[in-house]
Amino acid sequence: PFHKSKGQHILKNPLLVDSIIQKSGIKSTDIILEIGPGTGNLTKKLLEAGKSVIAVELDPRMVLELERRFQGTPYSSRLKVIQGDVLKCDLPYFDICVANIPYQISSPLTFKLLSHRPLFRCAVIMFQREFAMRLVAQPGDTLYCRLSVNTQLLARVNHLLKVGRNNFRPPPKVDSSVVRIEPRKPLPPVNFKEWDGLVRICFNRKNKTLGDTLGDLSMDGDEGKDDDEDMEMDDGETKASDFKDKVLDVLKLGGFEDKRASKLSQADFMHLLSLFNKAGIHFS
Ligand code: SAM
Repeated sequence: PFHKSKGQHILKNPLLVDSIIQKSGIKSTDIILEIGPGTGNLTKKLLEAGKSVIAVELDPRMVLELERRFQGTPYSSRLKVIQGDVLKCDLPYFDICVANIPYQISSPLTFKLLSHRPLFRCAVIMFQREFAMRLVAQPGDTLYCRLSVNTQLLARVNHLLKVGRNNFRPPPKVDSSVVRIEPRKPLPPVNFKEWDGLVRICFNRKNKTLGDTLGDLSMDGDEGKDDDEDMEMDDGETKASDFKDKVLDVLKLGGFEDKRASKLSQADFMHLLSLFNKAGIHFS
């Protein structure tokens, strides 16, 4: 009955559902967004805790089952089910998102939520364990990566709960973790496209020095070289041969030449980006 391709793993441990609810800090006035409600085990307790629940579910059979479950109960007027792909639909206003999601949409969903406006208070989401550990990883941790840096630019991220695979039916192949994602308010004054452009280049070879990684890149449009990266001068006059020197000058100026992406903090990336921009070098 369950679709593997839709990541259908139903939470069967009621104590775990309680503990997710308790850690979410739901207020009785909250409009809650749930993604992938499935048969509604989490939905029921969300309805008890908050003002209303908007649930987005891809599978029409699950939507039917969910509607049947709450039909004729006092909950039904406070539940709205949207049938569709959460990545493709317009999200409504919500105060808090609580969800046990299909793991294949983890990354696009996280950034879809973080670009939603107005910003919500927080999201409490079940992820595959390794993805969760990437989200919360700090400089120097093995799993510290572009996902950690980009998410932590936009949000505070905390690991809340380890969840073994046997809490689900059918059990998935991996363990899980519940994570809290709290958007930063206000968001840092950074152009996210440029930020991601720089971070992507730096993490291409995260254990090499930035001098090696960045000094090696060619300017965007430089013939003969075929880098995926987009890094360019805004004056349109700098010759390709001078570009490398400019980049190395910036790295030296900030003391970044011998540093490695795997050890750089948010503040370091912020500083590095501003030095590049001041020198007229941009990322996209
Ligand atoms: N929340 C339920 C629970 O905890 O028991 C079910 C969780 S199950 C891991 C994921 C659910 O998300 C499934 O019901 C699946 O049909 C649904 N789903 C899969 N892809 C989706 C998508 N792109 N948009 C919305 N729902 C999706």
